This record gives sequence, C-alpha cells and structure tokens, in this order.
Amino acid sequence: MAEPANNSEDDRLSCKILIIGAGMSGLSAATHLLKNNETDFLIVEARGRIGGRIIAVQVGNEKVELGANWIHGVLGNPMFELAMANGLIDIVHVPKPHKVVAALEDGKQLPFPVLREIYEAYVCFLRRCEEYFLSMYSPPDGITSVGAHIALEAEIYLSSVPPEQRRVRQLIFDCLLKRETCVTGCDSMDDVDLLEMGSYDELQGGNISLPNGYSAILEPVSKHIPKDRILMKHVVTKIRWQKQQCCQDDVDPTGKSDFKSNSLIEVQCENGKTITAEHVVCTLPLGVLKRTAKDLFEPSLPTYKLEAINRLMFGTVNKIFLEYERPFLNPGVSEVMLLWDDDRLSEAEKRDISKTWFRKIYSFIKISDTLLLGWISGRAAEYMEKLSTTEVSEVCTTILRRFLNDPFVPIPKNCLCTTWQSQPYTRGSYTAMAVGASQLDIRSLAEPLVQEKTEDNADEPVKILVAFAGEHTHSSFYSTVHGAYLTGRTAAELFLGTKQSEKHALSLSCEDTSDLSSWIQGISLN
Ligand SMILES: Cc1cc2nc3c(=O)[nH]c(=O)nc-3n(C[C@H](O)[C@H](O)[C@H](O)COP(=O)(O)OP(=O)(O)OC[C@H]3O[C@@H](n4cnc5c(N)ncnc54)[C@H](O)[C@@H]3O)c2cc1C
Repeated sequence: MAEPANNSEDDRLSCKILIIGAGMSGLSAATHLLKNNETDFLIVEARGRIGGRIIAVQVGNEKVELGANWIHGVLGNPMFELAMANGLIDIVHVPKPHKVVAALEDGKQLPFPVLREIYEAYVCFLRRCEEYFLSMYSPPDGITSVGAHIALEAEIYLSSVPPEQRRVRQLIFDCLLKRETCVTGCDSMDDVDLLEMGSYDELQGGNISLPNGYSAILEPVSKHIPKDRILMKHVVTKIRWQKQQCCQDDVDPTGKSDFKSNSLIEVQCENGKTITAEHVVCTLPLGVLKRTAKDLFEPSLPTYKLEAINRLMFGTVNKIFLEYERPFLNPGVSEVMLLWDDDRLSEAEKRDISKTWFRKIYSFIKISDTLLLGWISGRAAEYMEKLSTTEVSEVCTTILRRFLNDPFVPIPKNCLCTTWQSQPYTRGSYTAMAVGASQLDIRSLAEPLVQEKTEDNADEPVKILVAFAGEHTHSSFYSTVHGAYLTGRTAAELFLGTKQSEKHALSLSCEDTSDLSSWIQGISLN
C-alpha cells in the first residue's frame, strides 16, 4: 500500500511502482497491476485530469473529441473488445452514407467519378509504399520518402491521361496527400520513411467511432483505480533512477533520503513533492521526451535511447471545430474536399506560412447540421496555434465562401481549435517514422532501464528499474490508443514478479501479431 515515506514530511511519498502519466498507457498499467492484486502503486499526472490525448469537450449540443476519435480496427483490437464489453458500441447503428464533394478554388465542383478514379489510384500507390517494409524489393534510386514515391507514381499515372485532364487530377492527389499528413502525423509525406511505412500494422475492420465518443472508454479503463492513487497536478521534473558513483559515496547526514540509503528511484515533482519507488513506468509522450529527456533522467539516458528519441517524429495534427447558428450545407453533403492549387503561388508566398497556413486544411467534414470539422497538420497547424479563434474562424469563412461559391455562408457562432503542440504535457500529436528512423528506434525507446551490475549484486537477477510505455513504444501500433493500452499492460507485467519479467526477457515491445489470439489472451474484458 502506498504511504508517506516519512510521516513528518508531507512532501515525501513512497510506493513500490510509480506510474508517470495518466493517459491510456498509464491507466492500462495501473489496471493491470490491480487485476493481478498489486495495489502498491501511485500514478503522478501533470494535468488536472486523466486521459492525456483522449479528451472531449462540449461544443453547443455536441460532445467533441479533441484527440483520439476512432478505434482503428476491430479484430485483435483490445479497445474494441473493451468498448463492446462495456456496452459502448452501438451494434445496430447504421452509419449515414458519406457524400463527398470536391471543390476547386473558384467554386466549381468535380464530377464524383473523377474523384473516385484518383482515390482508387492513390490507395494503390499507398499500398505499394507499405509493401517495401516486408518485401525484398528496393525502391527506385534516390527515393527515400513516401511523398517522393507517391509523386513519382502520380506523375507516371498522369502522363497517360489527356493533358487537359491532368491538372484537376493532380489537385486531388495533392489534397489526398495533405489528408495523409493528418493520418500519419507529419508536415509533409516527404518527411516519412518509405521503407518503414509498412511497419504500422493496420487491424482489420475499419475505423469505429463510439456513439458517446472515444473518451467514454476512460470510465471502464479507470474505474477500478482508487482515486487517491492518482496524484493530479504533479509535474515530474527529475527521475533519479540510479545512484551515480559520486552519490554512492555520499553520506546523507539526515538519514532521510531513501534514494541514497536504499537505492530506490527518486522522482521529483515541480510542486516540491518527492516520491520514491522500487520501479517506475514512464509514459511521458515522445514530444515531452524530445524536449526534456536529456535533463529529466539522472543519470542521463543512454545515448542509443536519446538518438532514437531524436530520430522518431512527433508531428502536430490539430482540429478546427466550427459551430453555426443554422445549417447551411446541402443536407446530402457530408464533406467538402478543398482542392487548393498551390502551384499558383510564388516561391516567396510558399515560404511565408502566415499567408499560406490555411491551404493545409484539406476538407471540412459535417459532424452535425450545425457543426463542421477541419483537420490541419505540420508547420501550418503549429502556426495556427498562435492565432486567435476569431482569426481562424474568419479565414475558414472566407475559404468556405470561396469553395462553395456562396457569399452567404454564415460566420460561425463558435470556433474551437486544438493546440497539441503548445500543450506542455504532449508537445505534438502522435509518433511517425521520419526518414531515417525505424522500428528499431521504437524498440530502443521501449527497452527498460535496469540496475547496473556491481560486485555486490553480481549474483542477483537483473532488476528492472524504469519501464517505458506509451504509443511511441509499440513497434507496430505506434500513434494509436490500442498501442498505448498494450504497452501499459506489458510494462505492468514486468513488475508482477520475476517469473513474468523473465518471460519477457526485458523487452517491452509487443509487435508479435502473427498469433493474434496469444496477445489478446489474458485481457479480461470485465
Ligand atoms: C488530434 C489527435 C487525434 C488522434 N486520433 C486518434 C484516433 O482516432 N485513434 C487512435 O487510436 N489514436 C488517436 N490519437 C492518438 C492517441 O490519442 C494516443 O496515441 C494515445 O492516447 C496516447 O496515450 P499515451 O498514454 O501513450 O499518452 P498520453 O495520452 O499523452 O498520456 C501521457 C500522460 O503523461 C502526462 N504527462 C506529460 N508530461 C508529464 C510530466 N512531466 N509529469 C507528469 N505527467 C506528465 C500527460 O499529461 C498525459 O496524461 C490521436 C491523437 C491526437 C492528438
């Protein structure tokens, strides 16, 4: 049972296992400990809420998800199983047909068959990029990114199309690539490694959205965790995970520091609290690690880990919600694709993000008759975070009026934009494979920190001190909630006794999907 380390000092606490972060991975780790009767743990969370990148707010009559929205895949997805077991999925729900219109800057709309033709070609191009990961084929010389490969395929495709039909088809490819940057979490698909594109495992079954939003999953994931085990508004600023040689010789004159006397891990928080623990599960997002890892850990993280943190990408994806007084879009239309013609811009204009950021919004999707959603990624998304919602709302109105060729498109009564890059406890949206990064980097990140071998402990089994969890530590489900959930569970298992830890041979990665049932096994769905 977690308790104060020294009753006379309120600022010192101790527990066996300290979980840093109450996002999906941290909550999953805690729940897994509880299921296995391990109650001696605490969670420290920087924010005043649980959920991390799963959060919903109310906009008018709608509850909107600012972060995760879809359960990606059904077969083998623990989030789907959990949602089903807790009655969060409406199995009789028949989704409304999705009617997309693709509009040009002058308001002209393209015939749907053209859109479908290019979409089908684009999906083939994307699949071919993914195939490099498993196949022995090499890409054409000099092509290292997904963006470059798709551009090459699009060029070959368009060369067989009559010249007068090429331009609009090129604009659709451009729009689909902008959409892909939001799916992947990057500024440009030119930044995404071609050979590693297929390292992400797509589970079968499509994208499922929960009637009450993804955030409804937080209740079943957290309901068994006693409230007093989650210390909110505790920002971790230091993780002293191993005595350094200089400290080992130090004598603590007060005798109060468990860290020095017992070689426990000492975690310091911004609010002055210090927590000592035998083990730590660190779920700090990759964006936070990129900014703080160098100084956060004492001793510093091994170089191979710091290099992996550097190589992997943690881009920005933001959402723009526009709420209206009255419906104005044709009731049959559910999405307006914006076919920006960026080639018309001069090089100087292209470089000036203040003049072009909004051209990265690739569509507006109807969430309800009076609520629209736009997505934006990369540098443009980061630039938008500096603007007021009034400015964003005005720009969106201008865009809609232009593309719909309708000067009477109303001004939204409310505009809400996410700011994932500015969020100090996220610093971006999700993990992606930058050119030059690989699954090995994720495995390096996921590897636990273990106690150094000395003469005194040479005969003892290896002791795991810090385990790493979070979406960025799953080598094939990175960027997802289910990836985060599975890594939290695996991290917890490492501390459930030596037998389990030996079984995992110090590896936290759960990439083995060849036998789905083996890793689904053991997840209790109650
Ligand atoms: C816009 C957007 C859309 C997304 N859409 C989807 C989707 O549709 N489907 C999907 O599967 N995934 C989606 N994701 C990704 C998904 O949300 C994440 O992969 C997942 O929630 C990550 O969980 P986590 O536990 O790894 O990290 P987090 O949820 O980020 O949890 C980490 C926790 O650590 C805390 N923390 C940070 N710094 C400190 C500190 N110094 N001290 C203490 N605590 C700290 C944070 O406050 C946070 O609570 C989306 C994400 C975004 C941003």
